[in-house]
Amino acid sequence: MIECIFTIDYEIYGDGRGSMRDLIYEPTNRLINLFQKRNVCFVAFVEAAELEKVSTHRTDEAIDDVNRQVREMYRNGHEIGLHLHPQWYNAKYVNGRWELDQSEYNLCTLPRERIAQIIDRSCNYFRDVLGVPDFTPLSFRAGNWLFQPSQSASIALAEKGVKIDSSVSKGLVQRYHGLDYRPALKNGYYWNFGIDVNKPQPNGALLEIPIYTKMVPFWRMLTSKRVHLQRKASTTNQRQRQKVLRLLDRLRWKYPLKFDICRMEITELESMFDEVIRADQKSPDSLKPLVAIGHTKDLVDFDTIETFLAYLTQKGIKVSTFVEIYERYLNGARKQAEGIPQSTW
Ligand SMILES: [Zn+2]
Repeated sequence: MIECIFTIDYEIYGDGRGSMRDLIYEPTNRLINLFQKRNVCFVAFVEAAELEKVSTHRTDEAIDDVNRQVREMYRNGHEIGLHLHPQWYNAKYVNGRWELDQSEYNLCTLPRERIAQIIDRSCNYFRDVLGVPDFTPLSFRAGNWLFQPSQSASIALAEKGVKIDSSVSKGLVQRYHGLDYRPALKNGYYWNFGIDVNKPQPNGALLEIPIYTKMVPFWRMLTSKRVHLQRKASTTNQRQRQKVLRLLDRLRWKYPLKFDICRMEITELESMFDEVIRADQKSPDSLKPLVAIGHTKDLVDFDTIETFLAYLTQKGIKVSTFVEIYERYLNGARKQAEGIPQSTW
C-alpha cells in the first residue's frame, strides 16, 4: 500500500535574499490551486524562524500576505509542519541585508535548553499566525536536513508534542556538516528512533518518515532541469574547505536521487514510481509512505506536478499528509499489539 506525501519547504533558503512574493507567495498560490483542483492536500514545512524575523522587522512587503497564506493553508486542510533554520533567530538586519548567526546553524549541536527554547519560540509563532493557541506541529524537518547528532533534538521535539521527523534522505552525505545518512539505507519505509536517527529503536521518541530517495549512477543526476535549478540555488560564499568537502560528497558512483517534485522530470518521477509499484505487489498490505520534497523557490514547472498527480490517480495511489499516515501507523501498531493479522486490517 503506497501513499504519497507531498512536502514543500516554505521559505527563501540561503540568506533570505529575494522577494517573498516571487519566491514563496505566488508559487505557493499556484500549488494550492493545483492541489485544490484534485481535492488533495500537501504538507507545508514552514520555516518559522525566518518568517518570524521578517514579520518583526518588516523587511519584506509581502510578509502579511505570506502569514495569511500560512493561516489559509491550515484552515483548508493542508498540514503545517515545522521547518527550522535556527541561524535566523539571532540574525541582524544590516544595510538592507540579513546577517545570520552561523554558530546556531545546526539545531542538533546546540545545548538542550537552547533547543527547547527555539522549538517553543517557533511554536509560539505558529500559534500567533494561525490563531490557534494550542497548536503543535505534528511533523518536523531540520534546516539543511541536519538531524545529527539526534538525541537532544529528538527528546526536545518529542517533549513539545512533535511526533514525526522527515529530515533524512537515505544515502545522503554532507561531510562539512558531519551528516551521514548512508547507514539508513538498510532501514524500511519508516522507523522509530531516539539516540541516532539512522538506527531504528522501537521505543524511540520520534517516528522517521524519510524523504524518499533512490540510489542511482551519478550521471543520472545530470539532467538539464536539475543542473539549472541547482546552479540557481548554489551560494557563492562557501569557504575553500567547504567546497572541497562538497566535491568529496559528490565523488561517488551511486548517488541518492531525491523524490523532488520541483527538480525531477516527469519521466524520472514515473519510472521511480513504476519500480515502487512493482515492489509493492510483493507486499501490498504493508504501508509504504513515500515523501516527496520541493521548495517554494524551485516551484516553476507546474505542468510536471499536474501530470504526476494525474499519474498517481490513474495508478490508484493515495495522496496523504503526515496527519493521515500517523493515524494509520497508530492503528497498525495497536492491531499488531493485539495480534490481528496484517492482511485483515
Ligand atoms: Zn530550509
